[in-house]
Amino acid sequence: MKRISLVKEAHNLIKDRLHPGDIVIDATVGNGHDTLFLVEQVMPAGKVYGFDIQQAALDSARSKCGQLSHPECLTLIHASHALMAEKIPDEHHSKISAVMFNLGYLPGGDKSIITRTDSTLPALNSASQLLAAGGVITILAYPGHVGGDRETDQVKHWCDQLDAKQFRVSTIYSLEHKDSAPRLFTVSKMR
Ligand code: SAM
Repeated sequence: MKRISLVKEAHNLIKDRLHPGDIVIDATVGNGHDTLFLVEQVMPAGKVYGFDIQQAALDSARSKCGQLSHPECLTLIHASHALMAEKIPDEHHSKISAVMFNLGYLPGGDKSIITRTDSTLPALNSASQLLAAGGVITILAYPGHVGGDRETDQVKHWCDQLDAKQFRVSTIYSLEHKDSAPRLFTVSKMR
């Protein structure tokens, strides 16, 4: 069976919708692959806010983005994404074009530090409110690790309860509907 890169799927989907000057959020910076991708889409006038609870992740992302011609486009925030609404300046509220979540643990890092439902769900609520009309949230979820199964179920449940008049949800599976297969939820806010 053909394996799909869900990271690539998320990037392609977001790339189609972003423009230079947009304001976006990387809710889980990790090693900074998504952060760098986002900065490349919105620079020179746009802004990327990146959240992670691990300083090591933010350091890794900062060094990955070190060669950027417009480093001022990136603001890294050492805090939980659950605090997104209070950390993002008020003038950007309802103007965020994209929010990326890549759940789980930092590859190559401490596998006991994982995203958790009790902060992921408040962060998703904030993201849905901060989003501009026409904006998108991508959530890459991994049910194959301990804790990830419950978190993925809860994310699906969160998506299911969204107001269908306001949001459109789609799901892409990396392997045909296997329970442990990673999946990409995409939440689009109607215009
Ligand atoms: N997007 C990253 C990349 O491109 O390299 C990969 C992200 S990694 C799978 C998940 C990250 O989420 C880890 O670095 C972890 O520290 C971070 N994390 C866990 N709980 C968090 C929280 N409450 N708020 C923000 N980040 C969190």
